[in-house]
Amino acid sequence: MLQPLDRAWMEVDLGSLIRNTVALRDRGGVPVIPMIKADAYGLGAEQVAHALESVDPWGYGVATVVEGQALRASGIARPILVFTPLLADELEATYAARLTPTIGSSDELNAWLKFGGVYHLSIDTGMARAGLSWREMESIAAAVALHPPQGAFTHFHSPALDDGSMDVQEERFREALSALPLRPHVLHTDSSAAIVRHGPSPWTAIRPGIFMYGVGCGSTSAIQPLPVVHLRARIVELRWIEPGDTVSYDATWTAPSRRLIATIPLGYADGYPRALSNVGRGLVRESMVAVTGRVTMDMIMLDVTDTGAEIGDVVTMIGSSADHAEHLDAATVAASANMSPYELLTGLRGRLRRIYRGQ
Ligand SMILES: *Cc1c(COP(=O)(O)O)cnc(C)c1O
Repeated sequence: MLQPLDRAWMEVDLGSLIRNTVALRDRGGVPVIPMIKADAYGLGAEQVAHALESVDPWGYGVATVVEGQALRASGIARPILVFTPLLADELEATYAARLTPTIGSSDELNAWLKFGGVYHLSIDTGMARAGLSWREMESIAAAVALHPPQGAFTHFHSPALDDGSMDVQEERFREALSALPLRPHVLHTDSSAAIVRHGPSPWTAIRPGIFMYGVGCGSTSAIQPLPVVHLRARIVELRWIEPGDTVSYDATWTAPSRRLIATIPLGYADGYPRALSNVGRGLVRESMVAVTGRVTMDMIMLDVTDTGAEIGDVVTMIGSSADHAEHLDAATVAASANMSPYELLTGLRGRLRRIYRGQ
């Protein structure tokens, strides 16, 4: 529900989040490990995790111990994997919060064994970011024989590209697994684009992120997500300006005729990209309107001439208009800002209240 002080906010549709996740689970054919790192890509990890309990996930994926601690504190009892390498002084807290580290060397494994036993083996098959190289499996074989991992995984670097790299990485992953003294129970490789492109997983779990949050892999792909995030603000001021008048910093937009300009209380400090100055669009009263001039820290101006817009009207800057007739999808908005949709979503920030709907 909107409250009196809500003037710019983010709506998160938990019903669509769940349906997108079920669509991925059906396509992959195995349980999900929802990736809820970075506060669930900016949507709120606690609310997202509790909503996703209904899809019976295998566990959850986060990036840091602090993120995992917050989930535990909110009552999540399933396994929580931490998908970045941990420093030795983080291990005690990892154990205390019953988090599962992802381990990429025998040194890391030995350090972890002083605390806990459960871990997943992180295998690098070409991303060169984290994990043990598929070429160096023998360096950990002896330690793994004594202390077998619960799971093992790799991460694809270009799952959205049709360049054959996913097959190469998958082959390396198989090679790496056969170099282990025994096969771990829980095996997982597929992020959203891999699930969408590959279909049924050959392994035991999938690790989706962005698709759950409403960003798909293009209009031709096998499954399409429902929109989850809607960024909205209310018009707080309106003014008529004359031909030749300019709008905002650096006067980059000049009125070609008499125009009605609306101000909304949303800016780059809320995560609406400054790169959308003179480029971004908004939806108000069934009309698509243009951002005029520079996006400022706290305010954006829009040309709302001939739309009938009034003070207090809601403008949608990402997502669907209230009547669902028009849609500004996050991928398109991000592309116009020269950003990835991941960057756009994770950038939507603190000052925006998150309103959760539709569970
Ligand atoms: C972020 C991440 C994912 C999810 O990727 P999406 O492209 O958002 O589906 C999966 N696995 C790992 C290791 C990740 O870091």
